[in-house]
Amino acid sequence: MLSEIKNRYTQSLKRSESFLKTKKTAARSSSITSSREICLLRNQAECPICATKFMGKNHNTEHIHPRALGGLNNDENKIQMCTACNNSRNLTMQSMLGNPPYYKNYQKIKTDVDEFILWSEVTADDGLQAGSFFPRAQEIFTETRFAKNEPPAPERSYGRFSTWDTDDPPNLNLNKKQSKNINSKSKFIPRKPGIITRFFDWVFDYQPTKPEGSSNNHNSKTDNNSNRIDDGVPVENGLKSVHSRNKKSVSSNIIKQRLGEGEYPLITHLNSSSSGLRFPREPRQFALCMEWFIENVMKFTTFDECHEGLKESGIIPKSRAWAVLVNILHAYTPNGTLDSLIEEDLGKEKNLVVHGILENLSTTLTDQTKMSYIVERENFFQEIEKYFHNVNREFGKGHENEIFPLIQWLQLNWKNESSYPLLRKAINNFEAEKGSERNYRDILREDLEIPKSWPVVKIINKITHLKNESSD
Ligand SMILES: [Zn+2]
Repeated sequence: MLSEIKNRYTQSLKRSESFLKTKKTAARSSSITSSREICLLRNQAECPICATKFMGKNHNTEHIHPRALGGLNNDENKIQMCTACNNSRNLTMQSMLGNPPYYKNYQKIKTDVDEFILWSEVTADDGLQAGSFFPRAQEIFTETRFAKNEPPAPERSYGRFSTWDTDDPPNLNLNKKQSKNINSKSKFIPRKPGIITRFFDWVFDYQPTKPEGSSNNHNSKTDNNSNRIDDGVPVENGLKSVHSRNKKSVSSNIIKQRLGEGEYPLITHLNSSSSGLRFPREPRQFALCMEWFIENVMKFTTFDECHEGLKESGIIPKSRAWAVLVNILHAYTPNGTLDSLIEEDLGKEKNLVVHGILENLSTTLTDQTKMSYIVERENFFQEIEKYFHNVNREFGKGHENEIFPLIQWLQLNWKNESSYPLLRKAINNFEAEKGSERNYRDILREDLEIPKSWPVVKIINKITHLKNESSD
């Protein structure tokens, strides 16, 4: 049985090894799509570990294979759990593996890393009982989460491979592993945070969500980042149905907006659909394809599958998908094949990627036989440079309004008033990572509703209060 489990999750073990050996930074994080969340709430779903019924904000998204250990930020790696289970799992990991970064003493802790990942995967897929094959993780978790009590058995839980249909009965798909041929029609799910992973994000495997202390008038800010499209229905319908059911998803329209505002001039041979480079008209469409690529490419085993996936994403006209994909792939890998692409490549800095695309293009364009129809070569290349300058600007846009995940930070880091300088540092770092320049007091006021006039003592009181409230 143990070896069966190892076989089943062998990909995860390999992934964490390659991740930790090369000291890469963790994937960025986002929650499950809002349509999935709605589906869970509508079906009165329970936490798959402890049977707590999901309501309000008592649940969040767990990355089954933790991102700090190389887990991906894709749908297959996400499951909704109650906050308490989610926290206890983080604590279990920290208790087994010590302090991050884990590559530091990877050789020493490798066995524990493997055990934790297997435990985490199997309990997400087969329920908590299955974790007993890994006694150490199982004991720490059950002790932390349930103390001496018997954990209840969930009856209405949904796993990562549920089909997410409205009438999908609970538990049915919890154990059903998807075939290797993952649905190539996966819709566009842009990632949430900025390009650079936040340091605490990486350290603690956070899933930033809206701090509970902020009020409704901040909703739009946070939601700007949750650009999600319903993943069970065509894009258009998805937007509408989510929109009408849940106010929270109003800004899913941000994708539509980003796709819809036409401002870049049409350039012959660059944007025409029948000849030349066949890139999408708007640089932001190209940028969205890059974001889609980073998020989804690892789900596909062949170029054709990936091509189909991009076509189905609805980001660009289908006729442009091939040209765009080839160029992106070339910029991420030395020989331009999907086989040679490793996850670490996807962390490549966007400037370098854009530069890579331009370099490849300049080689192609000097090939007279391929590009004989381009007459004013120099002007044409200037247009291309302009276009990619804008691609660069558009890449990752829409993430800059994210606000500091205060509650989660407090839950993990706040001990007493002596933690205050750490908090201040974390907030400032978060802001800097977004590329924003607001000062600390402005952030407190605008995002966390702490008036500038408050003395530090009063801020600390409020924060202590928030911390206590959140751990009830
Ligand atoms: Zn739970």
